[in-house]
Amino acid sequence: MKCVRCLSDDAYKAAEAPDKSGAWELYCCRTCNYGWRSTEEEDIVNIEKRNPAFQLTPEKMEQVFDLNKIPELRK
Ligand SMILES: [Zn+2]
Repeated sequence: MKCVRCLSDDAYKAAEAPDKSGAWELYCCRTCNYGWRSTEEEDIVNIEKRNPAFQLTPEKMEQVFDLNKIPELRK
């Protein structure tokens, strides 16, 4: 699953409504640690509608994260 923020294919469904109704799901990204709910607004969950200022490019990731602490981000 693609992360809406860093666009890696490292996102996964971390949780869902306990009654299995599909009312909500929670997604998380292993690459940038972003998390979002399926119930959030389109400008959060839809990659095409997100504000580019909030996207996390590889260059921004290097600025944001201490790569010595997250070795898997070193590429
Ligand atoms: Zn991500």
